[in-house]
Amino acid sequence: MTVKDDRYLDPAVETMSREDLERLQESRILQLVPYVYQRSPLVRELWEKHGVTPDDIKSLADFKAKVPFMDKDMIRDFRDRNDDPFGGLACVGPPHMRGVGFTSGTTGDPTPLPRPEDNAVLIALKRELWHIGMRPGDTLTYLLFTFREGMIADRWMDTGFTPICVQHSPLDIPYLIQISKEYRPKALFMISTPMILGLEQYEKNTGEDIKAAFSSYEGIVFGGEPMSPHIRKLMERWDFNVYELTSLGDVATATECSAHDGMHTWEDVALIEHLDPDGDSDAEDGGRGEMVVTALLDDVAPLIRFRTDDLIEFTRKPCTCGRTHGRMKPLGRKGDELVVNGRSVLPIDIFPFIGDFPETRTGLFQIIRPQRETDILKLRVGYDIDALQDGENALIERIKARIKSELDLPSDIELMTNDEMVKLGPPNKIPRVSKS
Ligand SMILES: [Zn+2]
Repeated sequence: MTVKDDRYLDPAVETMSREDLERLQESRILQLVPYVYQRSPLVRELWEKHGVTPDDIKSLADFKAKVPFMDKDMIRDFRDRNDDPFGGLACVGPPHMRGVGFTSGTTGDPTPLPRPEDNAVLIALKRELWHIGMRPGDTLTYLLFTFREGMIADRWMDTGFTPICVQHSPLDIPYLIQISKEYRPKALFMISTPMILGLEQYEKNTGEDIKAAFSSYEGIVFGGEPMSPHIRKLMERWDFNVYELTSLGDVATATECSAHDGMHTWEDVALIEHLDPDGDSDAEDGGRGEMVVTALLDDVAPLIRFRTDDLIEFTRKPCTCGRTHGRMKPLGRKGDELVVNGRSVLPIDIFPFIGDFPETRTGLFQIIRPQRETDILKLRVGYDIDALQDGENALIERIKARIKSELDLPSDIELMTNDEMVKLGPPNKIPRVSKS
């Protein structure tokens, strides 16, 4: 008799060999292909245009070589041409379709995505919470963003976790603190920037000891948007053990593990391709590439070779936590990438150091991107005129020297006062990339 490895909720899947994982993906793909071709009007139209039929797909390799990509523009275009609110994606109607979500992207109008009854998000979430340390009988604080999450919270009770739901709203912070102190929950799912800022304010106003109130949490899942240096510092000060979460191309979520070296992409629920943003060949393992997803467990409206427009760093090397599924680090939007002398530059590369000078502490900056490729990195940087140490020109030289040492790139810096800079958008939300 073998003893189940208690470190994993589903050890057979989570630690499966790469060969077995690919066999599992292949069997799911081969079921999915005829299913989706017969039912999804968008897939049928797209494949017909490319002369592909299910008979052409006999293996995972065939799928990757022959099936055409889809993207958000195609979904919206199909929706508009055919007056189909589901963009040609829906393979079934009610009662299996449980609602409609929207893609997580920030560009253009939201793209509708019909949602399945029991979607892959649940599978990922259960594995992650188990990994954080949740076991049957433990209490979980579950912050609700939307009604849909309320439905989900109700449907993973088979884990034996006891959830306490709190609205993800700064107004509910006193309640969050109260239940954290009374019930001593083991994990918190999930918190994002407005709530952290709310906690900071609450601490200031009331003198509440946030670190003590949250000391029972073995893990706190953070998501919603990239973590700013300020938010990171606050959570470090409160001793939060943070697990970052991101969207897995709208198919599921991906969350960090205890190794904190990338977010696990569950490859039994999604086929992940990591492709050269310019073309369709595989990017180097560990390098930058565009995430392309195929939903393997969605029978309502599966995305098939969906180009997410998200650039990720991605590796399939097994993780020190023992799981064998890939790991990703989100980097930004493909449309934001600037290539300077062949080197990829994204806002995420500038964030870590741009606020290090006394004059630039607010960390406001814009990458100037007139076209994708340039030979010099042009940056607009916000500065505090009252904090000037040795004049504008000297500050420019210090920033240029820092960029040279961090990124090994020549740069051209335009200084703009913080007051002028924030007029380019709401605070901390100015576009990080600008055409001019
Ligand atoms: Zn891991």
